[in-house]
Amino acid sequence: MPARIIDGKLLAKQIRDDLAQKIKAMVNAGNQQPGLAVVLVGDNPASQLYVSMKQKACAEVGIYSEEHRLPASISQEELLAVIERLNKDPKIHGILVQLPLPEGFDEQVVINHIKPEKDVDGFHPINIGKLQTGQKTFVPCTPAGVMKMLDSIGIDLTGKKAVVVGRSNIVGKPVAQLLLQRNATVTICHSKTNNLAEECRQADVLVVAVGHPELVKADWVKPGAVVIDVGISKVGSKTVGDVAFDEVKEVAGWLTPVPGGVGPMTIAMLLTNTVAAAN
Ligand code: NDP
Repeated sequence: MPARIIDGKLLAKQIRDDLAQKIKAMVNAGNQQPGLAVVLVGDNPASQLYVSMKQKACAEVGIYSEEHRLPASISQEELLAVIERLNKDPKIHGILVQLPLPEGFDEQVVINHIKPEKDVDGFHPINIGKLQTGQKTFVPCTPAGVMKMLDSIGIDLTGKKAVVVGRSNIVGKPVAQLLLQRNATVTICHSKTNNLAEECRQADVLVVAVGHPELVKADWVKPGAVVIDVGISKVGSKTVGDVAFDEVKEVAGWLTPVPGGVGPMTIAMLLTNTVAAAN
């Protein structure tokens, strides 16, 4: 039986509809409208697209949003000054600096400058530390979206063998942490992992966040496994994931598509974090 598809687009729409209701109720009760500031430095076309998608999503649910487009020629100090202003701006509850920053900027210094209470991406070291220690915090948006997708199929992760491919600070590591918190037995793989295919074959839940088109083949997947494909790559004019969708869907129990999988969930979780920041 082919895998059942976890429809990220549909799930994200449900989350956005719920948020729209919640925001309406907040505003009707006399509370402030949640506000998000998105900071984009330089003219990376993919970043420009992501930023405009995030702004459109804000408008749809009733989040006030501001876009700060800055030239790549500005200094790091000037960028920090913009963040400083946003940190103090009462209209703004969430600040997102679109990554990657152009060459010459120290991303960690820039992220560290965002007030942790406004760090809706969950990238500030204070928020990462809170996540590690199981404290309430902003969960990074893509990992939060992955967990929502798993929850949507009603899987009990306790005792399940989870394999995460990719160890970035924004996806792989926090996903692994969240799976661990839910009592999965977690293996993290990366570019230096020996026999990656064999590691993947052990997984009841396989999360792939690499950025290598169709890396994961059908014979890497345990029959019936849940496969979450985070990767996004352009191959010609086509957007593909890290999982060879057509062949893996014949083996997996559940599978996320690309596009229409984790991507829309990431944006929905950004909106969720922004509303939480305003409360
Ligand atoms: P990074 O480049 O920061 O990390 C990639 C990870 O993959 C690294 O840990 C790297 O290992 C590992 N890796 C690279 N090649 C291999 C390989 N051949 N075998 C095993 N592991 C490998 O990427 P991100 O985590 O930021 O993003 C990963 C993918 O997810 C990208 O395609 C990105 O576009 C996508 N993405 C999608 C989002 C969404 O909303 N759907 C949001 C964020 C990202 P090592 O550490 O050893 O170098």
